[in-house]
Amino acid sequence: MKISSVDIIKFKEHPEHGQTPVLVRINTDEGIYGYGEAGVSIGNYSLGSIEILKGFAKMILGKDPLANDVIYEKLSNAFWSKGNGGVIFAAISAIDAALWDIKGKYFNKPVYELLGGAHRTKIRAYASQLQNGWKYENFLGAPGDLEFLKDAVQSAVDEGYDAIKIDFFKHFDGSRLDFYEGRNHLSLRTLKEVDQKLDAVKQIIDGKAELILENHCITTAHTAIQFAKVAEPYDPILLEEPADPLDIHDYERIKEATNIPLATGERTYTRRGFLPFLERNVLDVLQPDLGNCGGITEGRKIADLAELYGISIQTHTCNTSLSVAIALQLEAAIPNFIIHEHHTSNTFRHDREEFLYDYQPVNGYFDLPTLPGLGNEPTEKTLAESTIITVK
Ligand code: MG
Repeated sequence: MKISSVDIIKFKEHPEHGQTPVLVRINTDEGIYGYGEAGVSIGNYSLGSIEILKGFAKMILGKDPLANDVIYEKLSNAFWSKGNGGVIFAAISAIDAALWDIKGKYFNKPVYELLGGAHRTKIRAYASQLQNGWKYENFLGAPGDLEFLKDAVQSAVDEGYDAIKIDFFKHFDGSRLDFYEGRNHLSLRTLKEVDQKLDAVKQIIDGKAELILENHCITTAHTAIQFAKVAEPYDPILLEEPADPLDIHDYERIKEATNIPLATGERTYTRRGFLPFLERNVLDVLQPDLGNCGGITEGRKIADLAELYGISIQTHTCNTSLSVAIALQLEAAIPNFIIHEHHTSNTFRHDREEFLYDYQPVNGYFDLPTLPGLGNEPTEKTLAESTIITVK
C-alpha cells in the first residue's frame, strides 16, 4: 500500500467560536484513507499549518502508510521541526493521526487495539471551561457574572460530571484580567472576585465534583502564588498552566509555594518539551494535545516517559469532534490516563453535526469507540462546504 495523495481540508469558520479547523485526509492506492487534524484552531493558527502540510505531503507521497513511525521520524526531524513549535507539530500531528486511522482500517481494529489494547472500558471526562457556560453556544459573548457561572456549574453537575474546570480570571463585568496585572500583581478586586466565585462553585460541587483551576498562562510565579493562596482552602485537584511553559523556573517557585498539584502541556511539544518538567519534578499531570504534540505516536511516547516519573496524563482536547475521537483512542491505551477534557465547544450543535459520529459522555463517562481506525470523519456536507487542496 502506498500514499497516493493528500487532501488538506480547511473547514468553514465555526459560527459560535470563530475557529477554522484544518484537517488532512491521506489517500492510498488501495482506497483506504485516514483523517487527522492540525490541533491549533484557537486563534486560527490552524491556517498556518496549511502551507506546512503542503510541504510535508510532498515528502510522504509514495510512502507506505503503515510505516507510520518511520514517517513520524522523518517529519519530526525535518529542518524547522528541530526546536519544536506548535504549528509545525500540528501539521505533523495531523499526518500522524491520519496514518493511524489508515492502519486501524487496514487491520479492521480501533487504534487503541493496535496500541496494545484498552486499559479501561469507560473514559472519565470533566466538563471544561465553565467560565464560558456549559453548552452555551454564544461562546464569545458569555457574561462573567456569578449567576451565569453558577448555572453552568449546576448544569454540568446535574449531567453527572464529577469533575469540572474553570478559568477564574474573567471579571464579573465579562472583561478579561488585564495582561499586565496577570504578569505583575493581582489586585484586591481580582482576588476578592476569585474568592467569591470559588466559594459559590464549592457550595454547588461539594462532595459531588472535583475542581480544576485553569490559568491559561495569564499568571506568572508571583501572581499564580497569590491566586493559589486564595484557592487552596477550596481543595482544587489541579492548577493548570499557572505560567508560560517555557518559564520552568516559575513552575519551580509555584510548586514550592503551594500544595495544589500542577499541570501543563497544551503548548508543549514532544518528549523533549516535557522532559525538563519531569526532571525538575514540578508537575503532577501532563496535558499533551495530540493535535500538536506530535500526534498519537509522540503522545504515546510522552505518556510512557511520564509513567517512569509517576505522572498521569490528561490530554488537552479543544478542537473538532475528530480530536475527541483521537484523544479517546490514546486515553484507552495508556495505563497512566487520569481524565479526559470535554470542552464546552465539543457540545455545540454545529460542531457535533460536522462529523458522522457524535462522541459525548453519559453521566461523565465516554464509551470506547468501536469503529476501525480513529472512528470519525467529516460528513459529505462538511466536505462540500470546505476548501480542499489536493497534493499528488
Ligand atoms: Mg488549558
